[in-house]
Amino acid sequence: MTSSSTPTARAISPDSGTHWSAEGAWRVADGIHRIPLPLPMDGLKAVNVYVVESGDGLTLIDGGWAIPVARELLERCLREVGYGFGDISRFLVTHVHRDHYTMASVLGAEHGAHVSLGAGEKPALDLLNDPDLEESPFLAVLRTAGAQDIAEEWNVGDGERPDLDLGLWRYPDTWLDGDHDIDLGTRSVRAVHTPGHTPGHFVFAETGAGMLFAGDHVLPTITPSIGFTVPPADQPLGDFMASLAKVRALPDLQLLPAHGPVAPSTHARVDELLEHHEERLAASLAALATGPRTARQVAAELPWTRHEHQFETLDGFSRGMAAMETKAHLDLLVARGQATATVSEDPDGVRFTAVPS
Ligand SMILES: [Zn+2]
Repeated sequence: MTSSSTPTARAISPDSGTHWSAEGAWRVADGIHRIPLPLPMDGLKAVNVYVVESGDGLTLIDGGWAIPVARELLERCLREVGYGFGDISRFLVTHVHRDHYTMASVLGAEHGAHVSLGAGEKPALDLLNDPDLEESPFLAVLRTAGAQDIAEEWNVGDGERPDLDLGLWRYPDTWLDGDHDIDLGTRSVRAVHTPGHTPGHFVFAETGAGMLFAGDHVLPTITPSIGFTVPPADQPLGDFMASLAKVRALPDLQLLPAHGPVAPSTHARVDELLEHHEERLAASLAALATGPRTARQVAAELPWTRHEHQFETLDGFSRGMAAMETKAHLDLLVARGQATATVSEDPDGVRFTAVPS
């Protein structure tokens, strides 16, 4: 959700020849189609679901967000290429976020399709299925980031937890654990664990076709949010950067992202993402020069989005995401020995201090 060196004009996707979010089942390669599905908030515009013909039925990479308009569109686009929901034999879901997982959860149960999800997402599903939780588990993460005010903003409403809808958050049939090949009948994909964006994130490499189904791990025009996970990971940015290096060690593949256009090179985009985070780490460290700061205070001193917006001009949701992502950068500075963290019961959150160099 932060800056990018890729011009917006590249949001034209080569498979469709039009804006990547345009409706349709766009042929990416033999037996592989991209179907962008709408999201209820327009920040990300759409989520790409990839349909892979695979001998024993269809494999869908990600499912989309389970809202009626997306479900109808998925059904219509599948019909365009000669299929229906009953032809789906399997969902490989890159991560637990609702724009990827919930439609797989619903359609998997209705049509008997097998659903796979990374084992690292189990703690998040446990929380989402916990009826005794009194508030969204993200609020505690915001408070440790020093964003008590934003937590209050996120907590408006009647106390109902809109995420508590058990049909959307069923447990998968298979927990993906460790890197391994998955046989799809007439082809196979390599499941590669890429923690960072979420702890259980997986990408799927189809090296025969030269393609990487990248989920939210490598996005072509924006940077994946980091730190927007519950329960919070210790080093989400450190995990993310190590997982980028892991994808860099695979062959250079065509990038099939969950959000944005198909792009020619996973390696080129990984290099840009690594550079972006090194720049943000340096900027976060520089913001500590004048004294101890919470993540929220550092976030307020950094530019946000590719348009370099000021923090205070962002909407409440984006400010919360920005505070959590900044905390991930500060936590990595601590792990690298460049800063220290003072954790207290202080409602103002964790304070970070630069280590003199
Ligand atoms: Zn996503």
